[in-house]
Parts: sequence; structure tokens; C-alpha cells
Amino acid sequence: MDLNKLDDKPIFPIRTAAELLKISIPTLRLYEKEGLIIPHKTNSNQRAYSKHDLERIECIRKSIKKSKISINGIKAMLAMIPCWQIIGCSDLDRDNCISYSDSSKPCWAHKHDNGVCATNECRECTVYKDFSECSKVKETIQNIGK
Ligand code: SF4
Repeated sequence: MDLNKLDDKPIFPIRTAAELLKISIPTLRLYEKEGLIIPHKTNSNQRAYSKHDLERIECIRKSIKKSKISINGIKAMLAMIPCWQIIGCSDLDRDNCISYSDSSKPCWAHKHDNGVCATNECRECTVYKDFSECSKVKETIQNIGK
């Protein structure tokens, strides 16, 4: 059994996630509203978080508290992820995609009406999953063109 996969299981309801992270439920909802986090939604539309989600939120908290990066700053940083390159969009899809031209928020915070991202599940997408730490954004930008 891949134990790492268990860390992806959304087993914590919002109240438990907030308690474990020592933050309020409204703060968790704010991060979601701002597009920093995409919680799992159960069939009854309840939010649920995995261990990886909690780690992602901890990284966001650290950036805000210790590095003094604002929520807008984190969004702008995540907007730098070259998603079109990572998922291999065609030039046409890329040029028609709002995520390519906008630098204010991450690709998954945009509504995609067409192109490959209109049907993809962002929470399961490698672009969203692989960038749970701010340092990964920098690493990717450094590796472009290498
Ligand atoms: S599917 Fe979502 S996370 Fe993946 S590249 Fe498209 S918008 Fe971004």
C-alpha cells in the first residue's frame, strides 16, 4: 500500500482542520475564497481536508506570518506557475487562456469556459498538487529553459 496516498485522503472536516491548524473556520474559508486552497467537497457539499491540504495551509500561514507575504502576494506568486507548459497546452489554447495573460491569481482560481482546463479537476491537477510550497514556484521558474 502506498502510505503517501493516505495523506491525500480528505478525512478532516473543516472544524477539525481548523482546530489542528489553530486557525479559525472563517480564515480557512477566506483562503478558499481567495483561491489559495481547494478543499474536497463531499456529496453533501461539506468541505474536507487531507494531511497534504493541512501542510499546504501551513505553508500559506508561514508565508503570511513569517515572511510577511500578503494573500495577494501569494496569489501573484502562484500566478507565475507556467501551467501551460506543465500540462502541455497547444499554442492556441495557451493564447486564449486567461491564466496565460493574468498575473493576479493562480490558474485554478480562474473560471475556464473552454480549453483543457474547462473539464479538468483542479484539485487533482499536477499544477495545483505539485505547488503546495512557495519554494517550488521559484524552483520551476529557475528550471525554465534549462
Ligand atoms: S486544470 Fe486547473 S490547476 Fe490544472 S492547469 Fe488547468 S486551471 Fe490550472
